[in-house]
Amino acid sequence: MYRTHNCGELRISHVGQEVTLSGWVQISRDLGGLTFVDLRDRYGITQIVFNMDDDETLCLQARKLGREFVVRVKGAVAERSNKNPNRSTGDIEIEASSLEILNASNVPPFTIENETDGGDDLRMKYRYLDIRREPVRDNLVFRSQLAIATRSHLASQGFIEVETPVLIKSTPEGARDFVVPSRMNPGQFYALPQSPQTFKQILMVGGLDKYFQIVKCFRDEDLRADRQPEFTQIDCEMSFVTRDEVLDTFEGLTKNLFKSLLNVDLPDFPKMSYDEAMERYGSDKPDTRFGMEFCDISQLAKGHGFSVFDDAEYIVGICAKGAADKYSNKDIKKLTEWMQRPQIGAKGVVNIKYQEDGSVKSSIGKFYDDETLMAWKEHFNAASNDLILILCGEKEKTQKQMNELRLEMGRQLGLMDPTVFNPLWVVDFPLLEWDEDSNRFHAMHHPFTSPKKADQERMLNGDHETMKALRADAYDLVINGVEIGGGSIRIHDRALQSRNFDLLGFTKEEAEEQFGFLLGAFEYGAPPHGGIAFGFDRLCAVMKGQNSIRDFIAFPKNNQGRDMMIDSPSRIDTIQMEELYLNSTAPNGEE
Ligand code: ASP
Repeated sequence: MYRTHNCGELRISHVGQEVTLSGWVQISRDLGGLTFVDLRDRYGITQIVFNMDDDETLCLQARKLGREFVVRVKGAVAERSNKNPNRSTGDIEIEASSLEILNASNVPPFTIENETDGGDDLRMKYRYLDIRREPVRDNLVFRSQLAIATRSHLASQGFIEVETPVLIKSTPEGARDFVVPSRMNPGQFYALPQSPQTFKQILMVGGLDKYFQIVKCFRDEDLRADRQPEFTQIDCEMSFVTRDEVLDTFEGLTKNLFKSLLNVDLPDFPKMSYDEAMERYGSDKPDTRFGMEFCDISQLAKGHGFSVFDDAEYIVGICAKGAADKYSNKDIKKLTEWMQRPQIGAKGVVNIKYQEDGSVKSSIGKFYDDETLMAWKEHFNAASNDLILILCGEKEKTQKQMNELRLEMGRQLGLMDPTVFNPLWVVDFPLLEWDEDSNRFHAMHHPFTSPKKADQERMLNGDHETMKALRADAYDLVINGVEIGGGSIRIHDRALQSRNFDLLGFTKEEAEEQFGFLLGAFEYGAPPHGGIAFGFDRLCAVMKGQNSIRDFIAFPKNNQGRDMMIDSPSRIDTIQMEELYLNSTAPNGEE
């Protein structure tokens, strides 16, 4: 028998029992007469003590144990004189009577403790060692529990889990596809799904009514901390539903997951239109844990001879409560430089300080007298010692910049309480986005998203400008400024779908070639339907208050999209290349 107990379960009540434990040597400390070994497994760490007086050979053997050796130890559970309250097994230790090395280990390249000295790439190369660390292991356990809770909740609501294929053709989520060459069909390629979008809609035509899947999706995009080329979605679709029924169902799922995993009772989720979110926060995924909402002063600020404002399309300010005396001129200069970095590209930041003594100080004091600036105080809903920060310029750009400034101020002033979860539905997104570069519309969500009922007529008959104002029955779930997921009510009407493809610049032939199977299915009685997908990795990270999804993925890829452990992507040999017609001429003569 390798073990009678695991390394996390022995307590004071076990004192006196003979036990056998197996695990990894976290550390071995030689204190002369005594040698202490911390033995670790998935469940915890137990202290083993070897006593020179009891068994010299055994003790000498224990001294030679290296980090990460795999051992089996037998001994008696004893109460510790020097208890460790930070460890669940901290009241006891094992007085060893035998020790067996099951496997030796090289010296690990980084410390396998909660705080490690290993850099990202090193940790990923030796991911099996990283996974032995408690924080990574806990994240994987959490992920597993979240998946199980998701399945059980959705099953209780009548959803059925269906697996959709991985070797498919291009899906329209707007990123690049990963492709797989087909040996049996020379010169042809499968694409990996960016999402199961078309399949889940077809399942609705198939009458399955409520579908879900916890599913891998693949998008060939540039990577960031919260992106991975392969990631997981909780993907769902429902038939005969209105928008609000979809939102209620997934609000229910989210509340259930927070309750069962974190014991957090989420409040009802407010709904905010995309337009309102942009006006109030300059973002379609606002962090609503703190206020500091946008205050449009375009009308107020013009006409005082300050040409920067006079010439601007849009002038907007935020009010940082109680920050006036916290920000010296030097701090504001630093903030301005941060805003002027090319990633953000602001020209400058105007500030007004409403001081404790009732006076006002501002970087635009030359153009606006104190009386005028004091009059703005009310507009900003400002009090003494509040700091106002103002940006101006072209509206959309300035909103984005102000969003960055607001978030940075939220961080600097500690307003993003990690123990608070603020969910929000953002609804009524624009249906189409005009892209100046390619001179065409893009679907803001995807090409199967339905316009709102009230906009359908205008979509079929309106002119170009009308198209820019169409609203979609699309929605996102945002928690603490992170987009957890999104979805929409779909078009199930052939005429509307054709019109959408037209607007998106598909010719009839292209639409037919790419999506003919779906359009064909729609000819056979497609029910009204809609759905949503949550980013599963992101949901894990947000629930655990972490920024990176990487630590919730057992084997993640690095910023270059590489798996450092298996060293992939990699070259394949010539024979394989030839079999796939990749560097030779395909039999039909095409390159
Ligand atoms: N397929 C969509 C996505 O991946 C979600 C949906 O519309 O249901 O974002």
